[in-house]
Amino acid sequence: MSGPAWSAGAPAEIDRRAGGVPARSTFPPLDELLAGFEAIRAAHPDLVRRRRIGTSRLGEPIHVYAVGGGPKQNLIVGGVHPNEPIGSLTVQHLIEELCADPGFREAFDATWHIVPCVDPDGYRLNEGWFDRPADRLHYARHFYRPAPDEQVEWTFPVDYKLAYFDRMMPETQALARLIDAVEPDVYVPLHNSELGGVYYYVSRACGPLFDILRAVPKALGLPLALGEPESGDLVAAADAIYLMFGFAHTYDWLEELGLDPVGPKPAGDSSTSYADRHGAFSLIAELPYWSHPASEDTRATEESYADLLARTGQSHVETGRVLTDVLAAAAPYLTLDTPLRRGAEAFAPGIADSGRAALARAAGPEAARPATEAERFSCEDVVHMFRLRFGSMTLQALEAECRAGLAPAELRRVARDLADVYERWQDDAVRATPADPIDLNKAAGVQYGAVLAAGALAAGLIDG
Ligand SMILES: [Zn+2]
Repeated sequence: MSGPAWSAGAPAEIDRRAGGVPARSTFPPLDELLAGFEAIRAAHPDLVRRRRIGTSRLGEPIHVYAVGGGPKQNLIVGGVHPNEPIGSLTVQHLIEELCADPGFREAFDATWHIVPCVDPDGYRLNEGWFDRPADRLHYARHFYRPAPDEQVEWTFPVDYKLAYFDRMMPETQALARLIDAVEPDVYVPLHNSELGGVYYYVSRACGPLFDILRAVPKALGLPLALGEPESGDLVAAADAIYLMFGFAHTYDWLEELGLDPVGPKPAGDSSTSYADRHGAFSLIAELPYWSHPASEDTRATEESYADLLARTGQSHVETGRVLTDVLAAAAPYLTLDTPLRRGAEAFAPGIADSGRAALARAAGPEAARPATEAERFSCEDVVHMFRLRFGSMTLQALEAECRAGLAPAELRRVARDLADVYERWQDDAVRATPADPIDLNKAAGVQYGAVLAAGALAAGLIDG
């Protein structure tokens, strides 16, 4: 029984449980993940309820598993970005502990709704690297991230100024229906990052929660990410903790920078924005696979922040140009309309756009200050991340045509030339950023701790 442990001190109990995720060195393929949930349901038929919430585009059923019957509704969703599988370890451990420990269930006074994977098609397309996730080149070479308008996380409806989006995928519709049915008090879509330190997004500020969120990675030996945030419009509520903003905030920010806030193939709003309508407290934990000590080094460098933004922004423009040129040269010969190709075609101009955003920010007066070591590290690594990820997706799209016997000699030459460029990008990335793999159970442990902290906040176990 763990009830007394919670009332005696939720932070210590969260720390302890975050450290208790079992070790493993691979990510489960989808069949293994779902088999694990089914085994738990078979072992605890009185505790675990399963309900189908929808169907993937390729026809696979999507299920939610519910445990507990308390009044607080905690909704935890894996696979919102199918290239981010740390959550698969988190949800597996969460349902196991909920079933094994009555005191743990009672402490939260909640019904837990857990979706193991809301994008099964996209998850399966990433399984090529799950056997050796510690190897960054192997990971990137088999990487798949859906085009923005095919990501469950970013395909919720929008109607703002010139932006209009209502083309929700079946998976997104399934999640929207579930959010409306559950009316969550706590909503945690399970994301993760790639290289650096740990950071979070929250839907509202909460000091006592922030203390726990920063203590858990420290206890597990993971650095915080104190460098450049994912997007220049983000506002930090505390070190490594950002406030979530809706679509309108980013739209207005891009407009102010003089950039196109809509783009040729717009996506929609986030699932957390959608959960707002029910007053949910939303939390996202971003955990890397590889850590780097520079990610929390806030000492000033000799380079100005403006120069750093301009230098790395120019690199993004160049990466985007290389990939856009490759896709233009390949276009007359491409016959397969695959998710990898649609992703490659969306991200090539997207990389250049993010470069232009950095260049616009470099020209602003607030960029006239020294950059920190953490900012330099994170800005530089994103250059490598974009090249490794989206160079690979472009290459995979071309290789699919070659392997299927559909590629004329011209297309094979385009693919070979890109393979040469990609090899240089791989060498550059390895030289620039030695990747120090994080134990997967520690990364999942930080995410698990965040899920428990959000649940504890809703249950009144910590002050809000
Ligand atoms: Zn994500």
